[in-house]
Amino acid sequence: MTPRNLVILTGAGISAESGVPTFRGPDGLWEGHRVEDVATPQAFRRDPVLVQRFYDLRRAALAKVEPNAAHHALARLDAEWPGELLLVTQNVDDLHDRAGSRRLRHMHGELKSALCAGCGAAMPWEGDLSNTDAGAPACRRCGAARLRPDIVWFGEMPYHMEAIAAAIAACDLFVSIGTSGAVYPAAGFVDWAREAGAATLELNLDPSAGTPLFDEARHGPATALVPAWVAEVLAAVGR
Ligand code: NAD
Ligand code: ZN
Repeated sequence: MTPRNLVILTGAGISAESGVPTFRGPDGLWEGHRVEDVATPQAFRRDPVLVQRFYDLRRAALAKVEPNAAHHALARLDAEWPGELLLVTQNVDDLHDRAGSRRLRHMHGELKSALCAGCGAAMPWEGDLSNTDAGAPACRRCGAARLRPDIVWFGEMPYHMEAIAAAIAACDLFVSIGTSGAVYPAAGFVDWAREAGAATLELNLDPSAGTPLFDEARHGPATALVPAWVAEVLAAVGR
């Protein structure tokens, strides 16, 4: 059956070939840090300087990477797909945005956004959030010097969950790309899709914890698998 409504979930694996390291490399660390030392609210309370610097470096590193063929293929799919489509990314990089995807939700926040711990405002942010010679940067809404990375840390509620749940409930094909299936709630989306009666497809470098839950799994690098799959689904609707 030709699908009409698509939900696509992406993880760190889709950006790996652009040169953005994945979460749990072979050494079990993320850019040399234990995840719990940089990606929890407790870590930020304990050592705000370390955590701000960690995300400042990640934000600055975005200037040195470009979207790859997989990001571009998903942007083409978004532009040409005649039915409903939602791209849900766990990634905090801006590579889907730069490739041109429009129907896109960042469920774990964005490096290029700052969140005010005072008034709750989120605002586009390009530079560093750690202290400069002029002191800590101020919120553009309330003026408080309490900005933090707009990243959903472990123990915090992911963004856009209502919209994501509604899209999954209405989809007939769910595709998971470059994600380990280890971080919830995203790892549970395949179950929601199955409950909704959708077909499910995994595209990942190697078998993941979630592989047995998918109707079909293809293994290989995202820059090869994703453009091939996009060409296939667009051909099925005559594009
Ligand atoms: P993960 O690191 O846990 O898993 C990455 C997955 O990608 C693995 O299954 C791996 O086999 C696969 N992979 C690696 N290279 C690939 C390639 N070339 N092609 C296809 N697949 C490839 O990442 P996750 O599941 O996204 O969970 C990690 C969390 O880390 C997310 O919450 C995210 O917010 C955060 N994170 C984001 C970025 C980013 O924004 N690029 C980078 C690191 C971590
Ligand atoms: Zn504020």
